Amino acid sequence: MDLIIRNVAIPTFPARQDIGVRDGRIVALAPHLDTHGDEEEDGRDCMAFGGFVESHIHLDKAYILDRCQNRDGSLKSAIATTQAAKSAFTTDDVQMRADRVVKAAIGCGTMAMQTFVEVDEYVGLRSLDALRILRDEYSDFIDLRICAFAQDGLTQFADGLSLLDHALRQGANTVGGCPYTDPDPREHVRQIMRLAAQYDCDVDFHVDFDVEPEGSILPFIIEQTLAMGYQGRVSVGHATKLSVMQPDRLQPILSGMLRADILLTALPATDLFLMGGVMAPLLQYHHMGGRCTLGTNNVVNPFTPFGDVNLLRMGNLFANMERLYQNEDMAWIFDMLTVIPAGALRVAGLPELGGSADIVLLEAPDPATAVRELRPVRTGWKRGRRTFHNHGVELVTGRVATHGKRRTFCAQ
Ligand SMILES: [Zn+2]
Repeated sequence: MDLIIRNVAIPTFPARQDIGVRDGRIVALAPHLDTHGDEEEDGRDCMAFGGFVESHIHLDKAYILDRCQNRDGSLKSAIATTQAAKSAFTTDDVQMRADRVVKAAIGCGTMAMQTFVEVDEYVGLRSLDALRILRDEYSDFIDLRICAFAQDGLTQFADGLSLLDHALRQGANTVGGCPYTDPDPREHVRQIMRLAAQYDCDVDFHVDFDVEPEGSILPFIIEQTLAMGYQGRVSVGHATKLSVMQPDRLQPILSGMLRADILLTALPATDLFLMGGVMAPLLQYHHMGGRCTLGTNNVVNPFTPFGDVNLLRMGNLFANMERLYQNEDMAWIFDMLTVIPAGALRVAGLPELGGSADIVLLEAPDPATAVRELRPVRTGWKRGRRTFHNHGVELVTGRVATHGKRRTFCAQ
């Protein structure tokens, strides 16, 4: 074996396992492997999982708070100020900022990521070029998927559609729309869906990002998804509007989304900052059988002036905002950061026999404890090769006064 991780907990496995890796794949999984690896790792204090999966982030506009502020804390202001700033984005500038995010994410145990990239008349294809470079540079560390995205609308721009088309031809993996910034939201959805079908790729919409109960675009997206046979290939993010609807209006929309197998994503940090904590009704959709994920969305910009790209922290924030604390809720939250988005992005989920050796060790006995206590990730391997190692806190040996006596404590 190239690598054996000993005595580690794996969610869904009843007993601790040894994981054997050869040529980048998991070739053995058993309570005790009676062989040696070139590399051996003691997993005693840890659980192993396939790494976090970021399904919704905007690498192109991370870390721009120093050049554009959000004066009134509104979505409108965030969009306007970012739109003005992005005309000045260069490929180098985007690459440097995005690089910081990707590195930080790898250190937080993220193994796959879908980033939106704005492709429009303000920035052209410059941000896309930067992210394509990063996707190649970090391919041994993280699976980066690029979603060509029409943040500022589509139908009002002469070149809107052809730029998206260019982006897909040049290697964007998926296409994304934002009907609420388009003067013709339905035509926006139609054009994005048509483009997706043409390139046989998945679709991700930013939708219903307000707290007005009227005017949801979701019934139209559901209708289009079903009409095109695109079930299981459409995601929607934000959808805060759903949470202020009366139940008799909400229920048919959630049922329709379920029928169309639409993935629903909440972005807790942004929804907290811009919408005062109103989030899409994920728990309700989950209880109906719907697929949900949580994402970072933005890092230190006018949409979300905070962030460290730690998805586990995003899960913990979601639990706090929704006042969830039971073990089964914590486990579901962990799934929303790992196996559910992995399924949506079609990347490795939990470690399994024959699967890719994408493995992260997290210092917790189980997912619920990890989410509740924000336990640290220790180390990880991508396709069997170690990609990061976090060194934990080390207390410095010294003397402290306790009840008048002197007592020595030392680091482990
Ligand atoms: Zn977003």
